[in-house]
Amino acid sequence: MAARRSLVDRLQRRQFSTPASSAPSSIAPFAFAFDIDGVLLHVSEPIPGAAAALQHLHRLNIPFILLTNGGGRYEADRVADLQRRLGLDLEGSSDTHDTDCAGPLPVLSTANFVQSHTPFRELLDNAAGLDAEAAAAGDKESGGSIGGLRDQTILVTGSDAARIRIIAEQYGFRSVITPADILAAYPAIYPFDPLLKSVYAETARPLPKPLLLEGGKLASDASAAPFSPSDLDDSKYLRIAATFVFNDPRDWALDIQILTDVLQARQGFLGTFDPASLSAEGSEGGTRLFFSNSDLLWATTYHLPRFGQGAFAAAVAGVWAQMASSEQPPLLSPEGGRSTLLGKPHAATYRFAERTLLRYRASLLEAHGSKASSATKEAPLQTVYMIGDNPESDIAGANQFSSAHGTDWCSVLVETGVYDPVRDGKNSDYLRHRPRAIVGDVGAAVRWALQREGWPADF
Ligand SMILES: [Mg+2]
Repeated sequence: MAARRSLVDRLQRRQFSTPASSAPSSIAPFAFAFDIDGVLLHVSEPIPGAAAALQHLHRLNIPFILLTNGGGRYEADRVADLQRRLGLDLEGSSDTHDTDCAGPLPVLSTANFVQSHTPFRELLDNAAGLDAEAAAAGDKESGGSIGGLRDQTILVTGSDAARIRIIAEQYGFRSVITPADILAAYPAIYPFDPLLKSVYAETARPLPKPLLLEGGKLASDASAAPFSPSDLDDSKYLRIAATFVFNDPRDWALDIQILTDVLQARQGFLGTFDPASLSAEGSEGGTRLFFSNSDLLWATTYHLPRFGQGAFAAAVAGVWAQMASSEQPPLLSPEGGRSTLLGKPHAATYRFAERTLLRYRASLLEAHGSKASSATKEAPLQTVYMIGDNPESDIAGANQFSSAHGTDWCSVLVETGVYDPVRDGKNSDYLRHRPRAIVGDVGAAVRWALQREGWPADF
């Protein structure tokens, strides 16, 4: 409580002591990316100095994004919750994903916020949008040679698949199904009916199309004709174009069964079986599986770490390894070609974060009267300070990331979260992923970076 009071005091002092006009007029060649849990918040409570640091950067027109492995809520809702917890923009700002709007930008909005599943949006118009090859080809925003997933059927799951479906629809995906929809339409796919009635029936929606039941073993119509390749017709049968795990699934058994069914289906036609999918080479044209976060464990109010989405991904991959040829590359390896892992420390998330940061920086410059195109040429983004508490995700990801724009991602570790200087050792030699600097908290991290850049750090 005392910490909270002192934070409020400091915020109020700032309002009177630092007029906006004191901000330097030059364009900062640097920016920030902040992790949330353990950096800005600790078990949902603000960490002292966090709001003041963000407001100081905002006053100086220094761009920043929040970059978290969390998820499960729509971005605008999570941003509103963070604004409330941190005491930012209390007069209220709506979903400002459209950064073309006139007027000064709020300190925090969906335009500078990236959570684990935010990158899925990029697949609306370009199904290859998160691939390294697509990124290397020039960071195309959308509309590449490959089509998008906006109008194709996608399967989503997570902690609350019904809510996840609504998030996917808010993103713009128009045909979104959940495991419950499949189970309700074809209960025999997973024969444990008590859960069907008590849990799934409530949230299930009718499937857009029936399954193509290869061999007819599941069909109620016993006269189903034998399978023919010409049956693979997505105008008649359900074809799942991509599968997305948004956050930690609750019913691993159902989800592993259905994800495995999708992985072994012919070209995404659930209900079919492609023997090649289990071969050493694997099948061509199968459904891609996206995991938004690969953290094996996470910290909760329980005294020992709990399973995260990475544990679920390992379970899917473990079952698949039991079924597939031992010659086949592991499901979660890039060589497997079937799955994409997102979230820190993976490069796909850092590439997306950098695109978001560059777009936000341009809108920030424009909102303050600079021509973004000429300003970014005059002052390219040279450094991004990644402020995080987790050496294995925040720091590892920043250290390993190779920016297509030559931007240096400088890792800074704080001591207010996962990293414990007493347990882990004060010397960064103890760490497998060594940060460029270790500081006490987010306020000290921002001051360290500003002093390094020669900018005012008096907050
Ligand atoms: Mg963290």
